[in-house]
Amino acid sequence: MGKDFPAVVISEVGPRDGLQAVSAIMPTAAKLRWIDALVASGIREIEVASFVPARILPQMADAHVVVRHALTHPGVTVMALVPNSRGATAALEAGVHKITIPVSASAAHSMANVRKTREEMVEEVRSIVQLCRDFHLGVKVEAGISTAFGCTLQGNVPESDVVSLAEQVVAAGVDECGLSDTTGMANPAQVRRLFNLVRTSIGDKTGAAHMHNTRGLGLANCLAAYDVGVRTFDSSLGGLGGCPYAPGASGNVVTEDLVFMFESMGISTGIDIAVLIEARKALQDGLPNEPLYGMTLEAGLPKGWLSNRGQHD
Ligand code: ZN
Repeated sequence: MGKDFPAVVISEVGPRDGLQAVSAIMPTAAKLRWIDALVASGIREIEVASFVPARILPQMADAHVVVRHALTHPGVTVMALVPNSRGATAALEAGVHKITIPVSASAAHSMANVRKTREEMVEEVRSIVQLCRDFHLGVKVEAGISTAFGCTLQGNVPESDVVSLAEQVVAAGVDECGLSDTTGMANPAQVRRLFNLVRTSIGDKTGAAHMHNTRGLGLANCLAAYDVGVRTFDSSLGGLGGCPYAPGASGNVVTEDLVFMFESMGISTGIDIAVLIEARKALQDGLPNEPLYGMTLEAGLPKGWLSNRGQHD
């Protein structure tokens, strides 16, 4: 079992998406222990920080230290979010393998999140790609179309706007373009339709599904994305996360539950779920007052789970 299914990449975004949504500041040493614990579970891609001014997000003031530490783990793709060329320069100096740039499909969210129009963001993307080509060849650039499935500020986001932006960022030179349900408004039918539309337009540059669990549809939306060919999924340990500029948005898809879903279907994630659940301790130690989520932890692993897993290792 399992051998017939393509593997998926679980991209852990808790240290970025999760931490920027909580007001408490996690001590640097705790962040590093949390990252170590994630790596120990088999996670091989982590969005470890965002490079933004510390006065805007004091939670990210130690981004370069966190990146340098994450780089000591061989085989782990170290990612950072950057909103502009200045952030990209700092992230590249710190040594990241991959940059992700949020480009809002909603005009209102774009102004609120990065204080730029969508057109100005596409120009930022173009400059960042150029920066990589000139000085950091080999660093991958991803654009994440945020509010792709709806926006708490603007409401409906036309699908044609999402497809058009995907085409524009690919024309600007990104390696991949993913779709983000920043505000947790997506449903599975919409996820299938929009990923199919985007794939028809930009082909194999179609990137990750970044789903939030605001209305409990996070896993269903990930499965819908899987069904139409998506193989990279963003999630956060304990469901930490949200968006400070998207009122009402709550946590990311819970990594433990996402791994449980795929592994129980025989789709290999490369992650040892028992060790992953252990990693929650490191997270909770660093944020003792923050609620963590996850159904798999509450229910426990089903009887026979370990032997079952052994068959497709
Ligand atoms: Zn998010």
